[in-house]
Amino acid sequence: MAPLYSVRMRASRRGEHMSGAERLVRQEDVETVCLELLRRGRRHSRGTADALRLAVDLVEEAEIVTTALPDLLTWQVADVAAGRRAALCRLVAAGVPEAVAGAAMAALAKGAAPGGGVMRGAMLVDVHSGERLEADQARGVRVSRMDLLPELEAELQQQLAACGLNNRHVREALVLAAKVLSAPGLVAELCWSDDPDYTAGYVAAPGFGYQRFPRLKPAGDRRGGRAFFVDGRRTDVEALIRYLERTPVLVTRPGRVLPARPWQEG
Ligand code: AMP
Repeated sequence: MAPLYSVRMRASRRGEHMSGAERLVRQEDVETVCLELLRRGRRHSRGTADALRLAVDLVEEAEIVTTALPDLLTWQVADVAAGRRAALCRLVAAGVPEAVAGAAMAALAKGAAPGGGVMRGAMLVDVHSGERLEADQARGVRVSRMDLLPELEAELQQQLAACGLNNRHVREALVLAAKVLSAPGLVAELCWSDDPDYTAGYVAAPGFGYQRFPRLKPAGDRRGGRAFFVDGRRTDVEALIRYLERTPVLVTRPGRVLPARPWQEG
């Protein structure tokens, strides 16, 4: 395998997180991707950044883990309240107790960083105690060093386009979820975007892939975030965080993109 470089971008304004991106690319693509991420970081629907950080690191070839994209299924929901009920239901099906899932959803809805702001990364929630395990509740756990094998890009875009879902939010979240679901001790992931123009979110779990809900927050809401639910009794949490933040993961196998289904309550 050709050497791969991790490229990470962080954009902020007056210290507040605006946007970020993580890629894993071949040497000949490093410059193009850096430029693309610099342009993207400057302007975001959350605002114009006043600070941009770009980091480029060679990754250890021997450390690269490969995994598959999760299957994607969209549940059609009538409104935000129905979307959140459906997401809660899927978290419970994945093995997260209802009270723990509900508390994490409430934290995301009010802004999970101290003072109600948006976190740069994800909350890490123990499914047994509901406790938050991340050391820094503003930063959270930031999943990094993952990407899709370039040879799979065209196929994924075609699959998503057939369902009207070929946008960067979905493509990047699928790759992030692929890495998260491959992590030891991970029970489920919950996400909705902090982009005020993007209302969709998802629940992903090793048992059922990536289940998407087009409405998980009201349009115009700048709050969003991620929660990773872990089995705190059987997991070395330090090792899990190291895996999520440091281990390079390349998605080398496609998943299925399934036709949308109406969510049935009850
Ligand atoms: P996004 O889907 O990019 O709109 O991100 C939604 C939220 O997920 C952000 O506000 C962060 O709290 C969190 N997030 C974004 N990227 C990552 C990442 N690489 N690792 C962990 N959490 C992330």
